[in-house]
Amino acid sequence: ATPTALMVGTGRGAQLGILIKGPEVLEQTRRVDTIVLDKTGTVTTGEMTVHEVVAAEGESAADVRRLAAALEAASEHPIGRAVAASVADLPAVELPHVEHFANVEGLGVQGVVEGHAVVVGRPRLLADWSQHLDADLADVVERAQREGRTPVAVGWDGRARGVIVVGDTVKPSSAEAIARLRDLGLTPILLTGDNAAAAQQVADEVGIETVVADVLPADKVAEVQRLQAAGKVVAMVGDGVNDAAALAQADLGLAMGTGTDVAIEASDLTLVRGDLLVAVDAIRLSRRTLATIK
Ligand code: ADP
Ligand code: MG
Repeated sequence: ATPTALMVGTGRGAQLGILIKGPEVLEQTRRVDTIVLDKTGTVTTGEMTVHEVVAAEGESAADVRRLAAALEAASEHPIGRAVAASVADLPAVELPHVEHFANVEGLGVQGVVEGHAVVVGRPRLLADWSQHLDADLADVVERAQREGRTPVAVGWDGRARGVIVVGDTVKPSSAEAIARLRDLGLTPILLTGDNAAAAQQVADEVGIETVVADVLPADKVAEVQRLQAAGKVVAMVGDGVNDAAALAQADLGLAMGTGTDVAIEASDLTLVRGDLLVAVDAIRLSRRTLATIK
């Protein structure tokens, strides 16, 4: 490929809202046959809302919400933003200060709030630390998953104290974008750290047949490597800190411009508006650019 034609492609990309790291990226794009899509924030809006806060027997839902929100206020995760925002609407609640905040990548967050060691995240994160949900909370988790939502467990001082149910919606353009990616000969795969039921619901809604759910960030990379070892040329689209390693591993990494800086840095292309239809444009553009060069 001549450098000039590739430069033209790069300029055209900018007009379409695609930032391309270097002209050579367009050459990689041409060979892609598999496209791995992160769920939250990529196929869905990533603007989560809190549907329900349920406290364990003897606990108050207000405390569960307040301590979780205090901790999540320090998180960049869509779930963190949703939980923190859900108290911002309540004028009477002032969020306590957090010490020793730590992000447990792809699992949740922990820290000390009002002298309590608080943990918020996947139910299995709490279970790993022997904070088991009582039967009522386990029911809430099960029901939330059946409804395609994400249950977040909240515990402190060694005990599970409640569950917060969050959820978001599929972006309006996702189903059409996935149909067009298929038309271009790409096989879409949904890859997520969220629970299998929520992932399946989204996959059904947008027309994806292959779903890999409940994965940890390290397993996202492993999944991309597994596909590559099977001879696939893999594009990956993602937005989160937890997607960065997989974006870097993919033959072509596409970051949502609405996502985290870490994801953008790890990627070859950035879709400025965070719209999957622009991923279709990116693949078309590279094929056209390369066709004119031949
Ligand atoms: P995705 O692959 O959909 O972007 P993540 O890998 O970011 O999901 O997260 C996987 C799961 O870990 C979430 O569905 C959630 O249950 C849990 N989780 C991650 N970060 C947080 C957080 N800040 N607060 C609560 N739960 C979290
Ligand atoms: Mg995401």
